[in-house]
Amino acid sequence: MDIYNSLRRFFGEDFYRKVLNFSKNICINPFETLVGTIISQNTNRRNTLKAFKELKKNIVISPQNILDTPIYLIEESLKGAGLYRIKSRRLKIISKIIVDEFGGDFNKIFEMDPMKLRKFLLSLPGVGYKTADIILLFCLKYPIMPVDTHISRIVYRLGLTSSKIYEDIRNSLEKYLDKSYEKYVFIHLALIEYGRKICMKRRPKCDICIFRDDCRWYFQNYG
Ligand code: SF4
Repeated sequence: MDIYNSLRRFFGEDFYRKVLNFSKNICINPFETLVGTIISQNTNRRNTLKAFKELKKNIVISPQNILDTPIYLIEESLKGAGLYRIKSRRLKIISKIIVDEFGGDFNKIFEMDPMKLRKFLLSLPGVGYKTADIILLFCLKYPIMPVDTHISRIVYRLGLTSSKIYEDIRNSLEKYLDKSYEKYVFIHLALIEYGRKICMKRRPKCDICIFRDDCRWYFQNYG
């Protein structure tokens, strides 16, 4: 199954260019990207952006500033994003680690080799596999596939794995991909879009799906 070229053909050149341009802006400031992913947990994109903007209005987002800001001010900013007390505490702890271990310079973490960096990110409170892999892919340009709910559903339905464990899903998908940063970025964003528009959770549009001939779910249900 040629996932990359199938998606390129399906979405066309405009989408491809749009996605690559968009990806360049995801990690202009890696620490802000991490803060954004912490805020985004258990909430939607609109609430995340609102809370992030609110935080940015109140402080310049840096590890030292978050550490120095009274927690109630951070909580106030994050209120619209839910779980604001937990998220504020996590941001404080992460900031303290960055200040203590890297002199407050978050970019220094990128001096670690990618797998060591992944382990370090996973050790931070509130940072799971998806967040760590987003940082690795979009900030370090290291080809690793962050798996979100859409990607997970598509990979599972296709039958690339029978496991629902993050690492199994990621590994089973990566077996089909060339180790290229640009291709990983495109496939990551294209599969999310594909999951929103075609392989939706309810009533997937199998009749127009480019993966139908290779899909275990389709054959189990309609074959
Ligand atoms: S055939 Fe249906 S279930 Fe399978 S990947 Fe396509 S849309 Fe999803």
